[in-house]
Amino acid sequence: MKMTSNIKPDTIAAQAAGHLDGASGGVVPSLQPSTTFARDENNALLNSENIYGRDNNDAVRLAEEILAKLENAKDALLFPSGMAAIAALFRTLPNGAGVVLQSGIYWGTTHWIRTFCERRNIKLSEVEASDNALLQSACEENNPDIVFVETPSNPWLKTIDIAFASSCAKKSNAILVVDGTAATPILTRALDHGADIVMHSATKAINGHSDVLAGVLAIKNEDLPIWADIKADRHDAGAIIGAFEAWLLIRGMRTLPLRVERMSRNAQQIAEFLESHANVESVLYPGLESHEGHALAAKQMQGGFGSLMSFLVKGSEADALKVVGKMQLIHRATSLGGVESLIEHRFTIETETGIPPNLLRLSVGIEAVSDLIGDLDQALSF
Ligand SMILES: *Cc1c(COP(=O)(O)O)cnc(C)c1O
Repeated sequence: MKMTSNIKPDTIAAQAAGHLDGASGGVVPSLQPSTTFARDENNALLNSENIYGRDNNDAVRLAEEILAKLENAKDALLFPSGMAAIAALFRTLPNGAGVVLQSGIYWGTTHWIRTFCERRNIKLSEVEASDNALLQSACEENNPDIVFVETPSNPWLKTIDIAFASSCAKKSNAILVVDGTAATPILTRALDHGADIVMHSATKAINGHSDVLAGVLAIKNEDLPIWADIKADRHDAGAIIGAFEAWLLIRGMRTLPLRVERMSRNAQQIAEFLESHANVESVLYPGLESHEGHALAAKQMQGGFGSLMSFLVKGSEADALKVVGKMQLIHRATSLGGVESLIEHRFTIETETGIPPNLLRLSVGIEAVSDLIGDLDQALSF
């Protein structure tokens, strides 16, 4: 089947962008693990698209095609992790460049970018980008080459106005990069809102089964010079995803819209339950009317507000750890976006970044929501 450009994301995902396996007729793409591809007696490649595994693999190409379609992007590139995607992006910056970075985002991103910018003599300005005025002055004062934001942010669940960030970035001739991991391309197509590049940790909801590490960058205009630089970096420096991981991603993505729909519905109910619980101080979730970014999120997200939330237990760090310790169903583990619900005491990981010691981050899965609420309710009764 040839997919036309107005095919809906649910169909693109379910049918792996419409591909059948040419050689076998299978409705599932084949997995070709070969690292090298043969030539004939005249030295011509048997398949002109495939030379060597670092640059060419059919499963990687197909996974990228599906992701580009889901993002309404011109092109997409996969990496062996979300951090590898971010690193490939920032390695294109020359020494002495400028970066505006949202503060309070995924700690791994902040930590790596800080170290990298220091080593390369790159001027780094960290700003609370959910405040439009602060973001605007950071862009005006620092003349950045890259503006990097994350929405909704992890673990604060701040909402960033992508269209506004795009206008700020444009005035500085900067590239706007949006980490949309918590939103997924199903809930927010960041490129449609004005981002130049959207990034995801595909380890999270895009794969959704907690069994693949992967990252992706997708671009609106593939003629931007930075895209050629990123491609060259991936190829030459070798941060390429394995064929099996790409194949698993294709499999995982078939149910992405379905999983995101269910996870978002579960999360909304859980957020409302937690907000009304006597032992919960506050809940950070963009789907709640009490959330400062709710109106913006309602405009920028479609079909739900995602699977990620944080809540503050009424009490001390010890009380929060007691709640985590009492969980029976929800696993105590880091990461997010999988079919199974996970809970994490973030302060255990980040002690110096201002995370409240009584904050718990919850990634809501696709289980029966009554079971999840029951588990939280018994754990919170102290
Ligand atoms: C997990 C995560 C990353 C890093 O991705 P990895 O696949 O773990 O390298 C980046 N951004 C956000 C928002 C994340 O949750």
